[in-house]
Amino acid sequence: MNLLTKAVRGTQDILPADSYKWKFVQNIMLNEANLYGFKEIRTPVFEHTELFDRGVGDDTDIVQKEMYTFNDKGGRSLTLKPEGTVAAVRAVLEHGLLNDGVPLKLTYITPCYRYEKPQSGRYREFYQFGVETFGAASPEADVEIICLATTLFERLGILDLSLEINSIGCPKCRQEYRSALKKYFEKYRENLCSTCIVRLEKNPMRIVDCKNPDCQKIAADAPSIIDFLCKDCRLHFNDVKNYLNGAGITYKINPKIVRGLDYYTRTVFEFVSSLDSNRNLVCGGGGRYDGLIEEIGGPTTPAVGFGIGIERLILLMQSQGIEIPKPNRCDVFIATADKSAQAKALSLSKILREASFYAEFDIVEKSLKAQLKYANKINAKFLLVLGEKELAEKKAEIKNMDSGEKFVISLDNNFFIEVKNILTN
Ligand code: ATP
Ligand code: MG
Repeated sequence: MNLLTKAVRGTQDILPADSYKWKFVQNIMLNEANLYGFKEIRTPVFEHTELFDRGVGDDTDIVQKEMYTFNDKGGRSLTLKPEGTVAAVRAVLEHGLLNDGVPLKLTYITPCYRYEKPQSGRYREFYQFGVETFGAASPEADVEIICLATTLFERLGILDLSLEINSIGCPKCRQEYRSALKKYFEKYRENLCSTCIVRLEKNPMRIVDCKNPDCQKIAADAPSIIDFLCKDCRLHFNDVKNYLNGAGITYKINPKIVRGLDYYTRTVFEFVSSLDSNRNLVCGGGGRYDGLIEEIGGPTTPAVGFGIGIERLILLMQSQGIEIPKPNRCDVFIATADKSAQAKALSLSKILREASFYAEFDIVEKSLKAQLKYANKINAKFLLVLGEKELAEKKAEIKNMDSGEKFVISLDNNFFIEVKNILTN
């Protein structure tokens, strides 16, 4: 085959052999969010670039290296959204959703785009499930979404994920922490990676979660943010821990989870799989971002949320051997022995489909033998064979493909009632 082109590097086709897994996982996600009162929001795939690149010294990999930014024909700079939160915040503010009272709880499943080196669990187009609660500063709001994530993983049958939490305080506590970090890392300046040497001046907190092994070694003994929390942040963190204990949710405090951006505050959390040595997190972006809404031009509004990468989640489920239920089986395959039965097959399938039964018949002029093979391949529950004789007698045989049991049914007005009885027994 001489293909004109192939899928773009880092993108994936989700084929029928896998799409049912996606549907299953996505349904569980949206249903779970619904049980917690989150309502779905859908935002465009692209936004004005300044929504993401806000010129506030954001030196995250996403903004500096990974964005898909292009000019459209009108000369506007647009960016394919690299994550879901900021677009949701933009929509909330643009449509005044906060005026209807708080809390405002939103959920979404959205494609995201990042120019990264493609590898397993890391793509240039991937999907995120996210929830965001606006207008609630309370620790209960943090714990509520952590509960949501844990029940979601349980429902999906994933047992191996452990929850790690930390508090990164508020801008006030972080000022002191930053200078302590700077002082500490300064001593190891020569051994830091080149990126971290720049971070030393701009944002020493980001050195703490640098993936370079040398930096990680140095960071292991760096001061911990928890020791720098102000009274209010400490109380908030204590409440989060108490509520988690009360809800019977086990967690580990990991002082190394930080976020390099000012708008992130207080609670941060991640779900880590012991099977994943690369720490390619399924749910990495969890936590509070009380400063973001203001940064996008809205009123000071507390907010908390998380994002789960769906590809990584499905990969994890597969690596754990978790079976995702196969979609519905075909109820009836109507095979036709000759051309004269095609019209009847079409009308009987239509009757069954209108009553929400899954029915198929041959549409590519297969031989009867090939049709029977096809019925087996699609794992049809029942097989109905129509030919000249059946049409003349207005009776046909329907066979239960699992048990081999056969029934004679009429092809006239009683067809539906008789078939329905057999199918639903
Ligand atoms: P990482 O440290 O693995 O690069 P991140 O911090 O960039 O992750 P977030 O921005 O927090 O990730 O995104 C939330 C979730 O989205 C991640 O935990 C992960 O499940 C998923 N994710 C992020 N980048 C990708 C990608 N390139 N391909 C697939 N999933 C991704
Ligand atoms: Mg990343």
